[in-house]
Amino acid sequence: TQDRVFNFAAGPATLPENVLRKAESELYNWRGAGMSVMEMSHRGKEFMSIIQKAESDLRKLLDISDDYAVLFLQGGATTQFASIPLNICKPQDPVDYIVTGSWGDKAFKEATKYCKPKVIWSGKSDKYTGIPDFNALDQNSDSRYLHICANETIHGVEFKDYPTPAALLVADMSSNFCSKPVDVSKFGIIYAGAQKNVGPSGVTIVIVRKDLIGDAQEITPVMLDYKIHADNNSLYNTPPCYGIYMCGLVFEDLLAQGGLVEVEKKNIKKAQILYDAIDESNGFYRSPVEKSVRSLMNVPFTLEKAELEAEFVKEAAKEKMIQLKGHRSVGGMRASIYNAMPLAGVEKLVAFMKDFQARHG
Ligand code: PMP
Repeated sequence: TQDRVFNFAAGPATLPENVLRKAESELYNWRGAGMSVMEMSHRGKEFMSIIQKAESDLRKLLDISDDYAVLFLQGGATTQFASIPLNICKPQDPVDYIVTGSWGDKAFKEATKYCKPKVIWSGKSDKYTGIPDFNALDQNSDSRYLHICANETIHGVEFKDYPTPAALLVADMSSNFCSKPVDVSKFGIIYAGAQKNVGPSGVTIVIVRKDLIGDAQEITPVMLDYKIHADNNSLYNTPPCYGIYMCGLVFEDLLAQGGLVEVEKKNIKKAQILYDAIDESNGFYRSPVEKSVRSLMNVPFTLEKAELEAEFVKEAAKEKMIQLKGHRSVGGMRASIYNAMPLAGVEKLVAFMKDFQARHG
């Protein structure tokens, strides 16, 4: 509607309008409970029904088998950078990291405190614009796990397929979670902060194979121990109740759209028209990322005339398209077009880009 902007932020990010409307209608008095979800006991029957439905809908969406626990945690994906080695490694265990951008690098650095990680491939010298050839990876055969960041939010590089790990594959899916079908059985752990594709910040979702739970290092804080959370169905302490409720509404909405096969089709279409606009601009706009691994979610691009970038952002904001400035570490522009960005938003951006080029090209 008229008073809403098209928000291209990388996260917290735009949420589906119908989900916001539904939350609005249930805010004051949730389904006759006489109170809002924010005021409920996390152990009461109302909230129990909310978290259980959220979990079962997520299981349907990603076809998650009973071999996996689904945890709704706090602390952001950043906390998982430590939780993962603490839960599944001993301090001397070697582990492998593929670093395709800033987030993979942060995950690696945090792991150095709790195990013996090694970067077996880094895209840094190419300014994080690619993904390695899996056959050429030099994995340590004793590695406890291989860590990837499935979609680098800042650099816009996305794994389209996954390497076969020596032991376990662990993936940070924060910025492409639920954007397409994923074969969960290929992974030991999948984790994601909610605030890009599936809800507000404050909820971190961890999908972990059950046989990996229960062998955490002794120093593991109780709040980082998967066993504590799995044994208590994510209700060991007070969870981020409202955030979990919002994620549940998003999962319902994704199922109503026909599930992730349909969602992926829409995401491909949106990304296609934006990348086409960039590629067909005769160099006025440029995407630095290698074509085959361009992200469907985060689209960084630069202007040939870098001095026009501030003007681009300013003019776009005037037309109610906001948060298009690239991350401070890479500059340029970035359009994040998560599930909830409507096609109309991308079409409007592309029309604006063409008009901007016509005026400044
Ligand atoms: N991983 C990725 C891929 C991210 O995009 C982000 C957030 N931008 C993080 C990890 C960190 O997440 P959080 O802020 O939830 O700790």
